[in-house]
Amino acid sequence: MINRQMYELGSHRSTIREIFEYGNQRAAIVGRENVLDFSLGNPNVPAPDEVRQAILAEAAGDPVAIHGYTSAPGAPDVRRTLADSLNRRFGTDYTGDSLYLTAGAAAALMCAFRALACEGDEFVVFAPFFPEYKMFIESGAGAKCVLVPPSIEDFQIDFDAFAQRVSEHTKAVVINSPNNPSGAVYSEQTIRRLAAFLREKENEYGHPIYLISDEPYREIVYDNVTIPFVPNYYDDTIVCYSYSKSLSLPGERIGYVLVPPKAADSADLYAAVCGAGRALGYVCAPSLFQRVAARCADLTSDIAVYRTNRDLLYSGLTEMGYTCVKPEGAFYLFPRTLEADDRAFCERAKKYDLLLVPGSDFGAPGHMRISYCVKTETVEKALPLFKKLAEEYKI
Ligand code: PLP
Repeated sequence: MINRQMYELGSHRSTIREIFEYGNQRAAIVGRENVLDFSLGNPNVPAPDEVRQAILAEAAGDPVAIHGYTSAPGAPDVRRTLADSLNRRFGTDYTGDSLYLTAGAAAALMCAFRALACEGDEFVVFAPFFPEYKMFIESGAGAKCVLVPPSIEDFQIDFDAFAQRVSEHTKAVVINSPNNPSGAVYSEQTIRRLAAFLREKENEYGHPIYLISDEPYREIVYDNVTIPFVPNYYDDTIVCYSYSKSLSLPGERIGYVLVPPKAADSADLYAAVCGAGRALGYVCAPSLFQRVAARCADLTSDIAVYRTNRDLLYSGLTEMGYTCVKPEGAFYLFPRTLEADDRAFCERAKKYDLLLVPGSDFGAPGHMRISYCVKTETVEKALPLFKKLAEEYKI
């Protein structure tokens, strides 16, 4: 007598986890250095040294305070510091009362979905997308996840396909820029057009349509690309943020939900986010790392290795004949596979101990995700193998 849906979720590993486990098995046979594992999005650059210093400084303080519960939305001084950091960088005027600290972006998203979802509601998601969205929306919040097919030329938004999927049932639209898995960054033009479209639909249906902006990669961008700060373009935005990638702290579980005061029904929405956190048993975000995040809010890990890896992979693969949109952010490349069946292609790559994730997992068949948060030597070793793989398709 157990919940079947939860049983299914818990007993089937995600493809990414399967590949990771397969990599461990291969490592035992051929040696770790010969397994070219591009499957996981686990940052390989260390957290900035200031994180270590912040931990040491906090650890020297009152242990009861460091390890104790904080108020459910997070320690008030921490929230104020994080709001000030946003205000400095994005010209906003938030107070700590707009922030609800969470155990990473995953918990932030769950709080947002649960806070919003009512019977019959739909959440629109653009492919390619972080696979957990579908599970969070459907199994976590009991709502419907509506998928918009990808615009594979540039991974911006296909507005015609989007318009067909927005209806009076649309409660929120989820965006993720810089994107996992494509590395694409939504241009200012895309954000403006999206905002204008949503405003028009809000007027037409007579209710708010929230824009949930999932931004764990906000600071990981290349070539001086600027990321539009979404609440400055569309009032009804909810931001889900995480320090997992920007400070290389995925295991520490720290992030937040931002409910800007200009968002429709913002006070009630913020209360509902708090209520969702309560219903989900989150209690409060990790205490020590709330304080560490406050001390390091303006910092980002050194992303030079990611940039090097992106450049090597992008130029190497495109020269070999692979087709790929050049990623401007995050640490993923999302080329087309050399056969339509992306799962078959990724299986074939395993022959060379190249571990890649099929695009089908992200709602974009015919692609593969290469997660390049790895040592540059791994990329250098992999390139000739990508070439051999490509040659198999030329015969
Ligand atoms: N959203 C996206 C797009 C991600 O890629 C990830 C993690 O890889 C998350 C959310 C969850 O991140 P966190 O570790 O902060 O829960």
